[in-house]
Amino acid sequence: MVHGQAKGRSAIVLGAGMVGTATAWHLRQRGFDVVLVDRRVPGNETSFGNAGLIQREAVMPYAFPMDAGRLARIAFGMGNDTAWRARDLPTLAPMLARYFWNSLPGRYDPICMAYERMVRHCLAEHQAMAAQANATGMMRAGGWKQIFQSQAAMKTALHHAKEVAERFGVPHTVLDGATLAREEPTLQRQLAGAIHWTSPFAVSDPGGLVKAYARGFEAAGGTLATGDAQTLRPHGAGWRVTGEDGDLDAETAVICLGPWSDMVLRPLGYRFPLFVKRGYHMHVALDGALATPMLLTEQGVTMIPTPSGLRIATGAEFARREAPAATRQITRSIAIARTLLPIGKPLDAAPWRGARPCLPDMLPALGPCARHPGLWLNFGHAHQGFTLGPVTGRLCAELIAGEAPFIDPMPYDPGRFDRQRLGVLNVAT
Ligand SMILES: Cc1cc2nc3c(=O)[nH]c(=O)nc-3n(C[C@H](O)[C@H](O)[C@H](O)COP(=O)(O)OP(=O)(O)OC[C@H]3O[C@@H](n4cnc5c(N)ncnc54)[C@H](O)[C@@H]3O)c2cc1C
Repeated sequence: MVHGQAKGRSAIVLGAGMVGTATAWHLRQRGFDVVLVDRRVPGNETSFGNAGLIQREAVMPYAFPMDAGRLARIAFGMGNDTAWRARDLPTLAPMLARYFWNSLPGRYDPICMAYERMVRHCLAEHQAMAAQANATGMMRAGGWKQIFQSQAAMKTALHHAKEVAERFGVPHTVLDGATLAREEPTLQRQLAGAIHWTSPFAVSDPGGLVKAYARGFEAAGGTLATGDAQTLRPHGAGWRVTGEDGDLDAETAVICLGPWSDMVLRPLGYRFPLFVKRGYHMHVALDGALATPMLLTEQGVTMIPTPSGLRIATGAEFARREAPAATRQITRSIAIARTLLPIGKPLDAAPWRGARPCLPDMLPALGPCARHPGLWLNFGHAHQGFTLGPVTGRLCAELIAGEAPFIDPMPYDPGRFDRQRLGVLNVAT
């Protein structure tokens, strides 16, 4: 259903990942004449190959690790959850320093409050879009399990789970090793136990869900176009992009290009501290089934049952977005998964690689561009863009339409980076 209050208003949304597709959807719902532009079909980049979890539990974003032991493990390449490319570290250092600064307890807490205010809406916003797009069947309730090899790691994670339950009301159940073995009989050996986050949804085809939302957008009167976002330029009182079939003009343009957002913003004179945490996946044959997706916490290995086999996804790799792929982390992840599950041959010719679009304060950049009227931003969703797309898409559309926003948008205002000195962050508590 289209609200229709904004008759005559027009928008170009650049980038048809989960974030851009949801932004275009919500603008169309408010009566905007919307063109959603991508160089590829919708949902074929980062939103294609992720773990497909709609993470209701992810109320506290991934902070820079502060534990000396963990940092040493990462630095010496001993763990598998985080990897880095040495020659890219000088380029990444300024962003990582600000990421570290924002992860200190006094700064991290208000960031969590701002993050939770978005995450708490993720299930309802996905459900609303999925119902209209006839895609409810693509989302599976039942949550996912964080599994542990050691009691020590489980104990640390239980502190976090307790905080998430007590402060934010997100439920979980605790499984000891024997109960986990009963619930997941395909596991080949008994582990220390698991935290079962019961409220998230799992989507076995994340790119498929974005495509279903894009079809719903088209069915509601939106237009999909192929084109290069880097052709964006001011035109009259609005904006113009050159698509494959000619020029596209609108009063408003919204940049939702995820990890590529800087490529359009730099020529316009904006320098956002955008960096990426890359990740890989590969499908393998599994002799058996899993009741829910599972993350082996100590090693950062996610195992997601899908109709195309078991999807094994990696944690974070700090590297430049375009640096050549490094297969070590995914190869190790498959080897680690093989110690737990009866895994057969790889089903993909090569690993898939994606890039989580990150900002050093762990919050997206969402709001108007200070020096360019009619230009809006919605990018930088890091580890949870698949979860948050429908939430920030709605918030962005409400702001553009001049409606009362359903979430206080101030913490996500892109202007905070102009105001920041040495990573000082202006976040409402
Ligand atoms: C291994 C891995 C696992 C993850 N697991 C989860 C998870 O379980 N849950 C979760 O919530 N998140 C997860 N994430 C994070 C999530 O995938 C991202 O945050 C999210 O996909 C970002 O969405 P986006 O729309 O901003 O970017 P994208 O999906 O990358 O969309 C950007 C779009 O811009 C287009 N584009 C780029 N340049 C141009 C151009 N010049 N012209 C036109 N179009 C252009 C691209 O084609 C693309 O379609 C995971 C990420 C990884 C890597």
